[in-house]
Amino acid sequence: MIVQSDRSIVHFDADAFFASVEQAADLRLRGKPVAVGGEHRGIVASASYEARQYGIYTPMPVARARRQCPKLIVVPPRFELYEQFSANIFGLAEEITPVIERQSIDEGYLDLTGTSGCLSRSPDQAVAKLRTDVSRWLKVTISLGLARNKLLSQIASKLRKPNAMLIVPPEDGAELSFLHPLPVQWLPSIGSRAKDLLHSAGLSTIGQVARMPVNWLTELTGSVAKQLHDYANNIDHRPVETNRSDAVSYSHQDTFAADTMDFDFVVAVLKHLADKAFGRVRADGKQIRTVTVKIRYTDMDDHQGQFSFPEPTDVEEDAYPHLTRLLKRLWDRRVRLRMVQVKLSNVYNGYRQPDLFGAYERKRNLAFAYEAIRQQFGPKAIMRAHDYALSRN
Ligand SMILES: [Mg+2]
Repeated sequence: MIVQSDRSIVHFDADAFFASVEQAADLRLRGKPVAVGGEHRGIVASASYEARQYGIYTPMPVARARRQCPKLIVVPPRFELYEQFSANIFGLAEEITPVIERQSIDEGYLDLTGTSGCLSRSPDQAVAKLRTDVSRWLKVTISLGLARNKLLSQIASKLRKPNAMLIVPPEDGAELSFLHPLPVQWLPSIGSRAKDLLHSAGLSTIGQVARMPVNWLTELTGSVAKQLHDYANNIDHRPVETNRSDAVSYSHQDTFAADTMDFDFVVAVLKHLADKAFGRVRADGKQIRTVTVKIRYTDMDDHQGQFSFPEPTDVEEDAYPHLTRLLKRLWDRRVRLRMVQVKLSNVYNGYRQPDLFGAYERKRNLAFAYEAIRQQFGPKAIMRAHDYALSRN
């Protein structure tokens, strides 16, 4: 017997976000097949729904997309613009509740539990208003799911895109008949490997997974089995965790054992902090566009500076040269440092899809391999130059 508390959780997800923002910002693009093309790699990063009717999808090489749909309008990405729209969407969401968890620039959870009294508006009315407000003021659409937990609301928001609102009634029976017929890939955090394993064992729906014993699933999928089994049985107590208003970010800091004047040492620490932060970004399947470095002098004077990549990335190597440059610029007093921090923000979801070409994929594979070796054989098994420098310090 599953006892669910009566929570009202909303998940929202903007539809074809980059392409929709381009259409909102330029009347001439509305109603037309539009693709936002990745700058360096010639990959479609986002396709309007008109373009999708021609079979244009993400990630597809721009050249192929053009062949498939000669009318396709390809525009370069304008990330500042998307980040501005994102801030506006979250601003409208904040009018409904302060309890917001940002997941990426165009996705988030809201917790509307207990808000109906003070707003004299039921959760479904509040959600409907948010959807109308976003499309009226921003000329982009979002899809929303309303349910008793994160799992169901997230699936509900994505099931009937675009411009959809799906409510899963707060009853055990209704929830299970919503969840169980769905294909297993709708379970969150199920990678393509776990999906293949489940398929190979003849499990294609969530309901089938729900009925399998955990031990059996563990043999098949390893450590994710318990989580998988809970989700398949609609057990999800994850709270909506409010994050700061400057959107979700990944930050790591280090206060030195002794205050330091050693520039190379501080660079090595910054790179090490970036490694940790990017490892988390990759583990979450996200990408980031902005790196912020903060330094604190012995006298507690703080300085910070930031850099934004032309395109979102999830590879620490991309950040190394900028860490050095930022530190050089920020550390302009002849005073020792006591603390440094690296923060990664402007978080994107699904921008960088694994692809077969180019330096990016090579660097990314290297980062994965490096992490895997250190996890299995310990931090001394393999070291980047800066890790080596730190280990001798
Ligand atoms: Mg989206």
